Amino acid sequence: MSIILFVFVIGLCVGSFLNVAIFRVHEGEQVVRGRSKCMTCEEPLGPKDLVPVLSYIALKGRCRLCKAVVSWQYPVIELVTGLIFVLLYLMHGMEMMLLRDAVFVAYLIIIFVYDLRYMYILDKFTIPAMIVALLANLWLGIIPAWSILAGGLVLAGFFLIQFLVSKGTWVGGGDIRMGALMGFMLGLTHGLVALFLAYVLGGAVGAYLLATGKVDRKTPIPFGTFLAVGTLLMILSGDSIISWYLGFFV
Ligand SMILES: [Zn+2]
Repeated sequence: MSIILFVFVIGLCVGSFLNVAIFRVHEGEQVVRGRSKCMTCEEPLGPKDLVPVLSYIALKGRCRLCKAVVSWQYPVIELVTGLIFVLLYLMHGMEMMLLRDAVFVAYLIIIFVYDLRYMYILDKFTIPAMIVALLANLWLGIIPAWSILAGGLVLAGFFLIQFLVSKGTWVGGGDIRMGALMGFMLGLTHGLVALFLAYVLGGAVGAYLLATGKVDRKTPIPFGTFLAVGTLLMILSGDSIISWYLGFFV
């Protein structure tokens, strides 16, 4: 139990770091330098303001000094990261796979939030993640090397073809790199299933938003967000989604 709590707290802290990274990268600042400050009054935050989730609750979602509203994105990302880390620990125990998946998930959460907020899949995140995913998977040897490489090529190629056919109007270069990342993280089979899940989810959410009049047909869709969720689902469930789906046909 105490290990689970420990993993949860690590997850909260990683989530807290991801929040800062997303904001600072968007503002063009260095990710690890300098103290955190309030985004409204720019006053530096003290240790009491930086405890994941608890500070947010204690301060009722406002800055201690200027009382500006703090985005609920902060505690939500901290909590979600903490909970996913616990799930990963329950799946793997204290093994290398826990470390691998924790790093993969951290990158996916950043890509998810960044695309949702700013409508952009940033190379600053996908390219380092591609290198980490490729090296970690080749080194661990759980996914066959051919599957890792083929996954990257096929999924990147899937978006590259759309990019070339549409002269860059359907998908962007960020989607091509995201495809490669998914393949490198998951290998060919799981990568393709993650792609399929992203389209199903994107279609369902898009249809819901259209039907409720929240968006119109011209509203751009942050598809990287759905690609990140599809990849995350495959990391968390993997074969159980595939066997559930195949169960319909057998
Ligand atoms: Zn403030």
